[in-house]
Amino acid sequence: MNKIVLITGASQGIGACIAETFAEKGYNVAINCRSQNEVENGGNSVAENCRSHGVEAECFIADVSNFEQCANLVKEVAERFGCIDVLVNNAGITRDGLLALMKEDQFDSVIAVNLKSVFNMMHHTAKLMIKARKGHIVNIASVAGLYGNPGQVNYSASKAGVVGITMSAAKELGARGITVNAVAPGFIETPMTAAMPEKAREAALSGIALRRGGLPKDVANAVTFLASEEASYITGQVLVVDGGMIM
Ligand code: NAP
Repeated sequence: MNKIVLITGASQGIGACIAETFAEKGYNVAINCRSQNEVENGGNSVAENCRSHGVEAECFIADVSNFEQCANLVKEVAERFGCIDVLVNNAGITRDGLLALMKEDQFDSVIAVNLKSVFNMMHHTAKLMIKARKGHIVNIASVAGLYGNPGQVNYSASKAGVVGITMSAAKELGARGITVNAVAPGFIETPMTAAMPEKAREAALSGIALRRGGLPKDVANAVTFLASEEASYITGQVLVVDGGMIM
């Protein structure tokens, strides 16, 4: 029987690529989208691409910063597919600005979507995985959460939090046969980085040992590895996927 993966924020970018990479490997895929608009303008075609690999795939709407909507999301996916073998917390946003100029809402919204969502989703999914005594959780962090980045105090704080929650959850859930890891991408070519000012893009690319931005597939390959049997003795780790940007 196919395993089931649930990926948050999978209507585009890295999340969409993670969904399609799991489908290539024979997983049935639950694609979380923030709203009906994202289902129609991304999610549906991600689901179609997944199904082209002969697996089942469906979109599920939820704003993952909302605790109750996450409870419903997990319930709906478990009812539809019977269980959740792998959870990938991918949804994320940026609201960049300098510390002294940053509005309270810019800080709060990034913490809510990037960090609180990870608590929401792990809280509800862990109950199912504990019962099943197995499961893999992969959280998408960022090198900004490990080393900081000017203009991103909100984003780097949220991603540092993702690293902390990953390690604590790994220590709690290890005895139940559940692994919890994080992937920390560097500069990946997606709509998120396409929106950066050209100068900032050039500066970021010039500091990468491999001299190119990463592809969503580079991140997806790391995520599927951490969810695989081959990685069954790896937990509480942060796998940096940055082409040698930070060493
Ligand atoms: P992206 O293209 O902007 O995709 C982010 C996804 O998250 C979108 O599908 C977005 O949906 C969804 N999302 C946002 N808020 C949501 C919410 N409240 N509920 C559910 N879904 C929500 O970004 P990306 O570059 O693929 O980033 C994916 C992850 O990788 C993020 O966690 C990001 O922080 C991390 N990351 C990216 C890079 C990079 O270079 N791109 C580097 C390091 C880490 P909407 O379209 O509806 O907003």
